[in-house]
Parts: sequence; structure tokens; C-alpha cells
Amino acid sequence: MSAKNWRALNKGKHQLSLRLFLLLNAISACFSMVSPIYHTAAITVPVVLVLLLSTAFLIWQLVDKQRLININSVSFLLGVIWAWHVVIKNNAIPATDASFLIIALLSILFIGSISFINNLQAFILHCLPVALTIAWLDQGEHWPRVLYSIALPAIGITIQHIIQRRNDKFTQRLMNKLLEEKETLNDLSMIDPLTGLYNRRGFQNRLENVLAAGSGNHYVLLLDIDHFKAYNDNYGHSMGDQALIRVSAAIRDAVRSRDIVTRYGGEEFMVLLTNIDADVALQTAERIRQRVYDLKILHLFNEQVATNVTISIGLSPLEDDGIDEALRMADQALYRAKGQGRNNILTSDSLQAA
Ligand code: GH3
Ligand code: MG
Ligand code: MG
Repeated sequence: MSAKNWRALNKGKHQLSLRLFLLLNAISACFSMVSPIYHTAAITVPVVLVLLLSTAFLIWQLVDKQRLININSVSFLLGVIWAWHVVIKNNAIPATDASFLIIALLSILFIGSISFINNLQAFILHCLPVALTIAWLDQGEHWPRVLYSIALPAIGITIQHIIQRRNDKFTQRLMNKLLEEKETLNDLSMIDPLTGLYNRRGFQNRLENVLAAGSGNHYVLLLDIDHFKAYNDNYGHSMGDQALIRVSAAIRDAVRSRDIVTRYGGEEFMVLLTNIDADVALQTAERIRQRVYDLKILHLFNEQVATNVTISIGLSPLEDDGIDEALRMADQALYRAKGQGRNNILTSDSLQAA
């Protein structure tokens, strides 16, 4: 999941809380018309407006799920309209009883805190118009109660907000860690576990980058350990593995870091020498052959002759007809090199010349 998906998820969550907010507003408007605290001015223009607007927004949101309604604007708008209703109704109530104001304040705070438990901004925008209006209408007579009613949910939501931010940060850190792990796994699946060289997948990946970087002269080497079956038979599979590891390291050390060294098969390797001249490519192949020979891994494969582990190499340029053709040519050269006694190098040019 990317940071973009993460934001979309958060937005979706907020839009859900907006739906709850609109529903509660519609219900509250209905209720204050049907069962008002004081029957004077039960149905006011603003309360009808709240009902119509919240129903309309709700339907709009349900029908057009793609459209994101601005939560702050809607919560503020409905807050202002409720404040307007409170003014009208308060003026119509003859008694100096403040219970209407307190109940109005509580229901606004109630709806605000239920809907926007994780959205401090929307909560404040919704409750502030009514809270200020009520504080003004009450003229400070019941200020401790008014203050208490406002402060309690405000503090609660602020703390909730902080907790949520922490959770979000934690989740995001977790997500980033997982993404990093995924990258590492991706890298691992491109590497041969025994030798640490690229596997074919890793090679393809690197090759694409090399080709995308523009044109240049590249050379393909196919390398194969000589008489390796006999080595395994003589010394056992695990010694065979050790030899493979040492040969791999020798090949890797003999080329430049920008060249791509791949374990192509069991005891076969492929090297892509990038941006290189023909003669330097041949010199590099020779250096690889010599380095492997210099490892002096003892290989007494026919009891009379003591020899070392050696490799044969086929070399071919990577031309416009692609990597498969280059590999086919290098493979032919390698086959010939084996036929000519092993521990040597043949180029695809020499085949054509022959
Ligand atoms: P040639 O000189 O013609 O290449 O002879 P060869 O014996 O090397 O060729 P062949 O293809 O007959 O045998 C390859 C051997 O490489 C067979 C197998 O025992 C050995 N081999 C392949 N992969 C591994 C590996 O991962 N570990 C070990 N220890 N041996 C391997
Ligand atoms: Mg071999
Ligand atoms: Mg082989």
C-alpha cells in the first residue's frame, strides 16, 4: 500500500463520519420539530433548512460516492444554521429559563463529538457558532455550566485526536517498514542464494536498466566449469558447492562493478560486460579464466593427471538482434571451446571466420 492509498483510506474514513453527522443532524432537526422542548417556534426556517440540507447532502454522498464533500464547510454551515435556530427560539421563549440553551448546547456537542471523534477541526467548526451564540444569549448567567459542557467534549476530542495521530504515525511507520521488507524480498528473489550472484530474474532486471540507459557495446560471456560432474563425484556435493562459491567470487572479482554476473545454471555462469570494446572484453574473459585457474582448486579427475578446476568461456557481442541471439552465439562458442580441450576462450567471431 502506498502513501496515496493510505490518504485515500483516511479520506474514506472521514467521509463515513460525515455521513453519520448528516444523519444525526437530520434526525435532530426532525425531533426538534416533532417533539420540541418549548412549543413556541417549534418549526423555524433554520431547522427546516438543517433537515433539507443534511438530507440532500446525505443523498448526494450516497449516490455519487466518488465526490468528496468538504467536511469542514458542511459542519460549519450546519453549525451556523443551528445557531440561527437557537437565536429565534430563545427569543420566542418567554421565561428566563436557561434549560433550552443548555439542552441545545448539549445536543450540538453530542452530535459533534459522536460524528467527529477523530476530527478536531470539524468538531470545533460545528460547535463553535452555537457555543458562542449561547454564551452570548445567556450573558454569563450560567457560565460554569456552559463552560463545562463545552470544555468536557473539547478536551476529550483533543486527547482522542492526539491518540489517533500517534496511532496513524505508528501505522504509517509499520507500513513503511513492510514496504522496505518487500523491497528486500524482491532483491533476494533476484539473487542466487549459494553464490550471491544474480539469478536469471535478477539478470533480466539489470539488463533492462542497461538497455534503457542507451546504446553502447556490450559483450556476453557464457562460462562453464570443466568436468564438474567428475569433481562432484570425486569430492562430494558439498565440496562441489564450496568450489562453486569460490569460482563465483573469482569471476565477480575479475570484472568491473558495472558488469552483470549471473549464475545461469548449475555450474554455468553468464557475464554481461557493459560498454566495453571487443579487445577489452576478450582481455576480461582471459582475466576471468586465469583467476579461476589461480584458485588452484585441486581436481584430480583421472587419477594420473593432477589438475585444477578450470572454466571454458564462449564470448559474443550483444547486437541489435537481442540477448537470446547473443546467448545462442556464446553457447556455440562455449561448446567449441569445450571441444578444443577446455580451460580456454572462443569468440563467436572466430566461429564465423572458421
Ligand atoms: P563439461 O566440462 O563438459 O562442462 O563437463 P561437466 O561435468 O562440467 O558437465 P555436466 O553438464 O555433465 O555436469 C555438470 C555438473 O555440475 C552436474 C552436477 O553434478 C554439477 N552441478 C550443477 N549444479 C551444482 C550445484 O549447485 N552444486 C554442486 N555441487 N554441483 C552442481
Ligand atoms: Mg561443466
Ligand atoms: Mg554445464
